[in-house]
Amino acid sequence: MSAEYERILAENLRYTESFDRSALTAAPLSGLAIVACMDARLDVEEALGLRTGDAHIIRNAGGLATGDAIRSLIVSQQVLGTDEIVVIGHTGCGLLGADEDALRSRLPVERVEASDIAFGSFDDLDASVRRQVEILRAHPWLKRVPVHGLVFEVETGRLYEVA
Ligand SMILES: [Zn+2]
Repeated sequence: MSAEYERILAENLRYTESFDRSALTAAPLSGLAIVACMDARLDVEEALGLRTGDAHIIRNAGGLATGDAIRSLIVSQQVLGTDEIVVIGHTGCGLLGADEDALRSRLPVERVEASDIAFGSFDDLDASVRRQVEILRAHPWLKRVPVHGLVFEVETGRLYEVA
């Protein structure tokens, strides 16, 4: 067990001592579903003034409208009633200009058909966020709800709108 893993389990014990959110329902209070990059510098709740229980936050590398993100959005909309989507990319993203061949070359070739794996790298950050918004707006299994596209600047904490 790593020291970090031990630390988070100990932190959870402390968390339970003051835990007061047992009355929250599963349906997000704000009606928002957010698709954001997993980047550790982007604290979605903090950056948007959201609290526990307010929103669904679906995160992956790049904040992309992947099949699994769409699966989660369908559940979010159909089961838990969200009615607005926000996509958030960010400056300094690891997928911005990433070399997919170099990434694939790190994988053990005997275990995977490496050529099958796409990492979703992109060369234009704003265009990538706009593209995710377009995918979600057009997806036949998603409701016709407002879909917004934002970019988070890791240098300033500011969000700017791209779609
Ligand atoms: Zn990122």
